[in-house]
Amino acid sequence: MLALVKTGTGPGLELKNVPVPAIGINDVLIRVHKTGICGTDLHIEGWDQWAARTIKPPLVVGHEFVGEIVELGANVAGFAPGDLVSGEGHVVCGRCRHCLAGRRHLCAHTIGLGVGRDGAFAEYVAMPMTNVWHHWHGIDEEVAAIFDPFGNAVHTALAFPVLGEDVLISGAGPIGLMATAVARHAGARHVVVSEPNAYRRELASRMGASLVVDPRERALSDVFAELDMVEGFDVAMEMSGNPTALRNAIEAMAHGGGVAILGIPTQEIALDVNAIVFKMLTLRGIYGREMYETWYKMTVMLQSGLDITPAITHRFGFRQFEAAFAAARAGDSGKVIMDWQS
Ligand code: NAD
Ligand code: ZN
Repeated sequence: MLALVKTGTGPGLELKNVPVPAIGINDVLIRVHKTGICGTDLHIEGWDQWAARTIKPPLVVGHEFVGEIVELGANVAGFAPGDLVSGEGHVVCGRCRHCLAGRRHLCAHTIGLGVGRDGAFAEYVAMPMTNVWHHWHGIDEEVAAIFDPFGNAVHTALAFPVLGEDVLISGAGPIGLMATAVARHAGARHVVVSEPNAYRRELASRMGASLVVDPRERALSDVFAELDMVEGFDVAMEMSGNPTALRNAIEAMAHGGGVAILGIPTQEIALDVNAIVFKMLTLRGIYGREMYETWYKMTVMLQSGLDITPAITHRFGFRQFEAAFAAARAGDSGKVIMDWQS
Protein backbone atom coordinates (compact mmCIF):
# COMPACT_ATOMS: atom_id res chain seq x y z
CA MET A 1 0.00 0.00 0.00
CA LEU A 2 1.03 3.63 -0.33
CA ALA A 3 1.70 5.54 2.89
CA LEU A 4 3.25 8.82 4.04
CA VAL A 5 6.31 7.75 5.96
CA LYS A 6 8.83 9.56 8.14
CA THR A 7 11.74 7.44 6.93
CA GLY A 8 14.55 8.92 9.02
CA THR A 9 15.51 11.82 11.26
CA GLY A 10 15.21 15.31 9.73
CA PRO A 11 12.52 17.22 7.83
CA GLY A 12 10.22 15.78 5.16
CA LEU A 13 7.93 12.84 4.48
CA GLU A 14 8.05 10.20 1.75
CA LEU A 15 5.12 8.69 -0.11
CA LYS A 16 6.22 5.07 -0.44
CA ASN A 17 5.10 1.49 -0.74
CA VAL A 18 4.95 -0.36 2.58
CA PRO A 19 3.25 -3.63 3.61
CA VAL A 20 -0.46 -3.46 4.55
CA PRO A 21 -0.44 -3.61 8.40
CA ALA A 22 -1.04 -7.04 9.94
CA ILE A 23 -3.94 -7.25 12.39
CA GLY A 24 -4.08 -9.05 15.74
CA ILE A 25 -7.15 -10.93 17.02
CA ASN A 26 -8.60 -7.77 18.64
CA ASP A 27 -7.87 -5.43 15.71
CA VAL A 28 -9.69 -4.23 12.63
CA LEU A 29 -8.17 -3.27 9.29
CA ILE A 30 -9.57 -0.06 7.80
CA ARG A 31 -9.39 1.18 4.20
CA VAL A 32 -8.72 4.89 4.66
CA HIS A 33 -11.02 7.26 2.73
CA LYS A 34 -10.09 10.75 3.99
CA THR A 35 -7.65 12.21 6.50
CA GLY A 36 -7.14 15.57 8.22
CA ILE A 37 -3.78 17.25 8.77
CA CYS A 38 -3.08 18.16 12.41
CA GLY A 39 -0.42 20.43 13.93
CA THR A 40 1.23 17.25 15.24
CA ASP A 41 1.76 16.07 11.65
CA LEU A 42 3.38 19.43 10.83
CA HIS A 43 5.73 19.03 13.81
CA ILE A 44 6.71 15.55 12.63
CA GLU A 45 7.09 16.61 9.00
CA GLY A 46 9.18 19.67 9.97
CA TRP A 47 11.17 17.65 12.56
CA ASP A 48 11.24 20.16 15.43
CA GLN A 49 12.67 19.48 18.90
CA TRP A 50 9.48 17.76 20.06
CA ALA A 51 9.52 15.45 17.01
CA ALA A 52 13.22 14.67 17.43
CA ARG A 53 12.56 13.71 21.08
CA THR A 54 9.38 11.74 20.41
CA ILE A 55 9.38 10.07 17.00
CA LYS A 56 11.23 6.83 16.20
CA PRO A 57 11.40 6.44 12.39
CA PRO A 58 10.37 4.68 10.27
CA LEU A 59 6.79 5.73 11.05
CA VAL A 60 3.58 6.06 9.04
CA VAL A 61 2.21 9.42 10.25
CA GLY A 62 -1.34 10.78 10.64
CA HIS A 63 -4.19 10.14 13.06
CA GLU A 64 -7.28 12.03 11.82
CA PHE A 65 -9.20 9.77 9.44
CA VAL A 66 -12.38 8.15 8.25
CA GLY A 67 -12.51 4.86 6.41
CA GLU A 68 -14.31 1.57 6.03
CA ILE A 69 -13.64 -1.70 7.75
CA VAL A 70 -12.24 -4.36 5.43
CA GLU A 71 -11.01 -7.08 7.80
CA LEU A 72 -11.74 -8.20 11.37
CA GLY A 73 -9.54 -10.01 13.90
CA ALA A 74 -10.87 -13.36 15.18
CA ASN A 75 -11.99 -11.85 18.49
CA VAL A 76 -13.76 -8.77 17.08
CA ALA A 77 -17.50 -8.38 17.57
CA GLY A 78 -19.84 -5.51 16.74
CA PHE A 79 -18.11 -4.45 13.52
CA ALA A 80 -18.57 -5.66 9.97
CA PRO A 81 -16.80 -5.12 6.65
CA GLY A 82 -18.13 -1.95 5.02
CA ASP A 83 -18.80 -0.11 8.31
CA LEU A 84 -17.80 3.58 8.14
CA VAL A 85 -15.54 4.35 11.11
CA SER A 86 -13.00 6.75 12.58
CA GLY A 87 -10.31 5.94 15.10
CA GLU A 88 -9.69 7.37 18.55
CA GLY A 89 -6.01 8.21 18.16
CA HIS A 90 -5.10 7.57 21.80
CA VAL A 91 -4.46 3.86 22.30
CA VAL A 92 -4.64 3.33 26.07
CA CYS A 93 -3.23 0.51 28.21
CA GLY A 94 -6.57 -0.86 29.44
CA ARG A 95 -5.02 -2.00 32.71
CA CYS A 96 -4.12 1.06 34.82
CA ARG A 97 -6.30 2.46 37.62
CA HIS A 98 -8.03 4.97 35.33
CA CYS A 99 -8.55 2.59 32.42
CA LEU A 100 -10.07 -0.01 34.74
CA ALA A 101 -12.38 2.66 36.18
CA GLY A 102 -13.54 3.69 32.69
CA ARG A 103 -11.61 6.96 32.69
CA ARG A 104 -9.53 5.99 29.71
CA HIS A 105 -8.75 9.58 28.72
CA LEU A 106 -6.69 9.78 31.95
CA CYS A 107 -4.47 6.80 31.08
CA ALA A 108 -0.81 7.71 31.64
CA HIS A 109 0.39 5.08 29.16
CA THR A 110 -1.33 6.39 26.04
CA ILE A 111 0.29 5.62 22.69
CA GLY A 112 -0.59 8.00 19.86
CA LEU A 113 -1.63 6.78 16.42
CA GLY A 114 0.85 8.20 13.90
CA VAL A 115 3.15 9.18 16.78
CA GLY A 116 4.01 6.05 18.77
CA ARG A 117 2.56 3.52 16.29
CA ASP A 118 1.94 3.50 12.54
CA GLY A 119 -0.80 5.93 11.60
CA ALA A 120 -3.52 6.71 9.10
CA PHE A 121 -1.85 8.65 6.25
CA ALA A 122 -1.95 5.43 4.29
CA GLU A 123 -4.31 3.36 2.19
CA TYR A 124 -4.90 1.06 5.19
CA VAL A 125 -4.62 1.44 8.97
CA ALA A 126 -4.94 -1.20 11.70
CA MET A 127 -6.48 -0.36 15.10
CA PRO A 128 -7.70 -2.18 18.21
CA MET A 129 -11.52 -2.53 18.07
CA THR A 130 -11.72 -0.59 21.36
CA ASN A 131 -10.38 2.46 19.47
CA VAL A 132 -12.91 2.43 16.66
CA TRP A 133 -15.98 4.67 16.44
CA HIS A 134 -18.96 3.77 14.25
CA HIS A 135 -20.42 6.66 12.26
CA TRP A 136 -24.08 6.91 11.56
CA HIS A 137 -25.33 6.32 8.04
CA GLY A 138 -25.23 9.48 5.94
CA ILE A 139 -22.59 11.45 7.86
CA ASP A 140 -20.49 13.83 5.74
CA GLU A 141 -17.18 11.97 5.27
CA GLU A 142 -15.13 15.17 5.53
CA VAL A 143 -16.66 15.86 8.94
CA ALA A 144 -16.13 12.22 9.93
CA ALA A 145 -12.46 12.53 8.93
CA ILE A 146 -11.86 15.21 11.57
CA PHE A 147 -13.66 13.67 14.55
CA ASP A 148 -10.34 13.61 16.40
CA PRO A 149 -9.75 17.42 16.49
CA PHE A 150 -13.50 18.03 16.58
CA GLY A 151 -13.35 15.92 19.75
CA ASN A 152 -10.63 18.19 21.16
CA ALA A 153 -12.94 21.14 20.50
CA VAL A 154 -15.95 19.45 22.11
CA HIS A 155 -13.98 18.15 25.09
CA THR A 156 -12.73 21.70 25.76
CA ALA A 157 -16.00 23.49 24.99
CA LEU A 158 -17.95 21.26 27.37
CA ALA A 159 -15.36 21.37 30.18
CA PHE A 160 -17.40 24.12 31.87
CA PRO A 161 -21.13 24.81 31.42
CA VAL A 162 -21.55 27.47 28.71
CA LEU A 163 -25.33 27.86 28.62
CA GLY A 164 -26.04 31.57 28.88
CA GLU A 165 -22.39 32.35 29.62
CA ASP A 166 -19.95 34.74 27.98
CA VAL A 167 -17.16 32.73 26.40
CA LEU A 168 -13.68 33.67 25.24
CA ILE A 169 -11.84 31.52 22.72
CA SER A 170 -8.21 32.42 22.12
CA GLY A 171 -6.83 30.98 18.90
CA ALA A 172 -9.00 30.34 15.83
CA GLY A 173 -7.05 27.44 14.36
CA PRO A 174 -9.19 24.51 13.23
CA ILE A 175 -9.91 23.54 16.85
CA GLY A 176 -10.80 27.06 18.03
CA LEU A 177 -13.05 27.42 14.98
CA MET A 178 -14.94 24.23 15.76
CA ALA A 179 -15.13 25.17 19.47
CA THR A 180 -16.75 28.45 18.45
CA ALA A 181 -19.60 26.60 16.73
CA VAL A 182 -19.88 24.12 19.63
CA ALA A 183 -20.10 26.88 22.28
CA ARG A 184 -22.81 28.55 20.20
CA HIS A 185 -24.69 25.27 19.78
CA ALA A 186 -24.39 24.62 23.54
CA GLY A 187 -26.12 27.92 24.29
CA ALA A 188 -23.41 30.46 25.13
CA ARG A 189 -24.62 34.06 25.14
CA HIS A 190 -21.51 35.63 23.59
CA VAL A 191 -18.55 33.89 22.00
CA VAL A 192 -15.62 36.26 21.57
CA VAL A 193 -12.75 34.92 19.47
CA SER A 194 -9.28 36.41 19.77
CA GLU A 195 -7.03 35.64 16.79
CA PRO A 196 -4.27 37.64 15.06
CA ASN A 197 -4.82 36.01 11.62
CA ALA A 198 -7.44 37.93 9.58
CA TYR A 199 -8.43 34.92 7.43
CA ARG A 200 -9.15 32.92 10.58
CA ARG A 201 -11.03 35.80 12.23
CA GLU A 202 -13.30 35.83 9.20
CA LEU A 203 -13.83 32.07 9.52
CA ALA A 204 -14.58 32.48 13.25
CA SER A 205 -17.36 34.92 12.37
CA ARG A 206 -18.79 32.34 9.98
CA MET A 207 -18.64 29.72 12.76
CA GLY A 208 -20.85 31.93 14.93
CA ALA A 209 -18.55 34.23 16.93
CA SER A 210 -20.38 37.25 18.40
CA LEU A 211 -17.26 39.32 17.97
CA VAL A 212 -13.73 38.70 16.71
CA VAL A 213 -10.72 40.53 18.11
CA ASP A 214 -7.17 41.01 16.87
CA PRO A 215 -5.26 40.75 20.17
CA ARG A 216 -2.51 42.99 18.80
CA GLU A 217 -4.99 45.81 18.30
CA ARG A 218 -7.68 45.53 20.93
CA ALA A 219 -7.65 44.60 24.62
CA LEU A 220 -10.20 41.96 25.65
CA SER A 221 -11.65 44.23 28.36
CA ASP A 222 -12.45 46.68 25.59
CA VAL A 223 -15.31 44.46 24.33
CA PHE A 224 -17.19 44.22 27.65
CA ALA A 225 -19.21 47.40 27.22
CA GLU A 226 -20.02 46.64 23.56
CA LEU A 227 -21.44 43.23 24.51
CA ASP A 228 -23.15 44.33 27.72
CA MET A 229 -20.82 42.14 29.76
CA VAL A 230 -20.67 43.10 33.40
CA GLU A 231 -17.48 41.70 34.84
CA GLY A 232 -15.60 39.60 32.32
CA PHE A 233 -15.74 36.16 30.72
CA ASP A 234 -17.36 33.26 32.55
CA VAL A 235 -15.56 30.63 30.49
CA ALA A 236 -12.34 30.79 28.48
CA MET A 237 -10.90 28.23 26.09
CA GLU A 238 -7.19 28.63 25.46
CA MET A 239 -6.59 27.18 22.00
CA SER A 240 -3.48 29.00 20.83
CA GLY A 241 -0.64 27.77 23.06
CA ASN A 242 0.48 31.40 23.18
CA PRO A 243 1.69 32.67 26.61
CA THR A 244 0.23 36.15 26.16
CA ALA A 245 -3.13 34.70 25.16
CA LEU A 246 -3.37 32.71 28.40
CA ARG A 247 -2.31 35.69 30.51
CA ASN A 248 -4.82 37.94 28.74
CA ALA A 249 -7.57 35.39 29.27
CA ILE A 250 -6.92 35.18 33.01
CA GLU A 251 -6.93 38.95 33.22
CA ALA A 252 -10.29 39.14 31.40
CA MET A 253 -12.10 36.49 33.51
CA ALA A 254 -15.04 37.19 35.79
CA HIS A 255 -14.94 35.93 39.37
CA GLY A 256 -15.59 32.20 39.59
CA GLY A 257 -14.78 31.63 35.91
CA GLY A 258 -13.36 28.51 34.30
CA VAL A 259 -10.37 28.41 31.96
CA ALA A 260 -10.02 25.25 29.86
CA ILE A 261 -6.50 24.96 28.46
CA LEU A 262 -6.04 22.87 25.30
CA GLY A 263 -3.27 24.86 23.56
CA ILE A 264 0.20 23.40 23.97
CA PRO A 265 2.83 26.06 24.72
CA THR A 266 6.42 25.51 23.66
CA GLN A 267 7.77 27.21 26.78
CA GLU A 268 6.94 27.70 30.46
CA ILE A 269 4.41 30.47 31.12
CA ALA A 270 4.50 32.83 34.12
CA LEU A 271 0.95 33.46 35.39
CA ASP A 272 -0.61 36.01 37.76
CA VAL A 273 -1.51 33.58 40.56
CA ASN A 274 -3.01 36.45 42.57
CA ALA A 275 -5.63 36.87 39.85
CA ILE A 276 -6.35 33.11 39.88
CA VAL A 277 -6.71 33.12 43.68
CA PHE A 278 -8.69 36.30 44.23
CA LYS A 279 -11.02 35.65 41.27
CA MET A 280 -11.34 32.02 42.43
CA LEU A 281 -10.76 30.75 38.89
CA THR A 282 -10.65 27.10 37.91
CA LEU A 283 -7.93 26.21 35.40
CA ARG A 284 -8.34 22.86 33.72
CA GLY A 285 -6.01 21.09 31.30
CA ILE A 286 -7.64 19.25 28.42
CA TYR A 287 -5.96 16.40 26.55
CA GLY A 288 -7.54 14.37 23.79
CA ARG A 289 -11.14 13.30 24.06
CA GLU A 290 -13.18 11.38 26.63
CA MET A 291 -13.62 7.82 25.46
CA TYR A 292 -16.32 7.78 24.38
CA GLU A 293 -18.55 10.40 25.92
CA THR A 294 -16.99 13.14 23.76
CA TRP A 295 -17.57 11.00 20.65
CA TYR A 296 -21.20 10.52 21.62
CA LYS A 297 -21.64 14.27 22.15
CA MET A 298 -20.04 15.06 18.78
CA THR A 299 -22.43 12.69 17.06
CA VAL A 300 -25.61 13.94 18.70
CA MET A 301 -24.69 17.61 18.29
CA LEU A 302 -24.21 17.06 14.53
CA GLN A 303 -27.55 15.28 14.44
CA SER A 304 -29.17 18.22 16.23
CA GLY A 305 -27.91 20.89 13.85
CA LEU A 306 -24.30 21.71 14.71
CA ASP A 307 -22.39 22.57 11.51
CA ILE A 308 -18.59 22.51 11.54
CA THR A 309 -18.12 22.37 7.75
CA PRO A 310 -17.01 26.03 7.34
CA ALA A 311 -13.87 25.05 9.30
CA ILE A 312 -12.84 22.77 6.40
CA THR A 313 -11.19 24.98 3.80
CA HIS A 314 -8.77 22.92 1.66
CA ARG A 315 -8.91 19.52 -0.06
CA PHE A 316 -6.12 17.59 -1.78
CA GLY A 317 -5.51 14.11 -3.17
CA PHE A 318 -2.88 12.24 -1.11
CA ARG A 319 -0.37 12.44 -3.94
CA GLN A 320 -0.43 16.24 -3.48
CA PHE A 321 0.60 15.84 0.16
CA GLU A 322 3.32 18.47 -0.14
CA ALA A 323 0.80 21.11 -1.22
CA ALA A 324 -1.59 19.94 1.51
CA PHE A 325 1.07 20.30 4.21
CA ALA A 326 2.06 23.72 2.82
CA ALA A 327 -1.57 24.90 3.01
CA ALA A 328 -1.89 23.67 6.60
CA ARG A 329 1.39 25.31 7.56
CA ALA A 330 0.65 28.65 5.87
CA GLY A 331 -2.03 29.62 8.39
CA ASP A 332 -4.51 31.07 5.89
CA SER A 333 -6.52 27.87 6.20
CA GLY A 334 -8.88 25.99 8.44
CA LYS A 335 -8.80 22.22 8.32
CA VAL A 336 -6.97 20.63 5.37
CA ILE A 337 -8.30 17.28 4.11
CA MET A 338 -6.45 14.66 2.05
CA ASP A 339 -8.41 12.14 0.00
CA TRP A 340 -6.91 8.61 -0.08
CA GLN A 341 -9.13 7.18 -2.78
CA SER A 342 -8.26 9.67 -5.51
P1 NAD B 1 -3.28 26.21 15.30
O1 NAD B 1 -1.84 26.36 15.57
O2 NAD B 1 -3.76 26.01 13.91
O3 NAD B 1 -4.08 27.43 15.92
C1 NAD B 1 -3.59 28.28 16.90
C2 NAD B 1 -4.07 29.69 16.58
O4 NAD B 1 -3.71 30.55 17.64
C3 NAD B 1 -3.45 30.25 15.30
O5 NAD B 1 -4.47 30.61 14.38
C4 NAD B 1 -2.69 31.49 15.81
O6 NAD B 1 -2.72 32.56 14.88
C5 NAD B 1 -3.46 31.82 17.08
N1 NAD B 1 -2.71 32.70 18.02
C6 NAD B 1 -1.39 32.93 18.10
N2 NAD B 1 -1.12 33.85 19.05
C7 NAD B 1 -2.30 34.20 19.58
C8 NAD B 1 -2.68 35.12 20.60
N3 NAD B 1 -1.79 35.83 21.28
N4 NAD B 1 -4.00 35.24 20.89
C9 NAD B 1 -4.93 34.52 20.23
N5 NAD B 1 -4.62 33.63 19.25
C10 NAD B 1 -3.32 33.48 18.93
O7 NAD B 1 -3.72 24.99 16.21
P2 NAD B 1 -5.00 23.99 16.28
O8 NAD B 1 -4.75 22.82 15.44
O9 NAD B 1 -6.28 24.74 16.12
O10 NAD B 1 -4.80 23.56 17.80
C11 NAD B 1 -4.95 24.53 18.83
C12 NAD B 1 -3.97 24.28 19.95
O11 NAD B 1 -4.28 23.07 20.62
C13 NAD B 1 -2.51 24.15 19.54
O12 NAD B 1 -1.68 24.74 20.53
C14 NAD B 1 -2.30 22.65 19.51
O13 NAD B 1 -0.94 22.29 19.73
C15 NAD B 1 -3.14 22.22 20.67
N6 NAD B 1 -3.67 20.85 20.66
C16 NAD B 1 -3.86 20.28 21.85
C17 NAD B 1 -4.42 19.02 21.93
C18 NAD B 1 -4.67 18.40 23.27
O14 NAD B 1 -5.11 17.25 23.33
N7 NAD B 1 -4.42 19.15 24.36
C19 NAD B 1 -4.78 18.33 20.77
C20 NAD B 1 -4.59 18.97 19.53
C21 NAD B 1 -4.05 20.23 19.49
ZN1 ZN C 1 -4.34 2.97 31.16
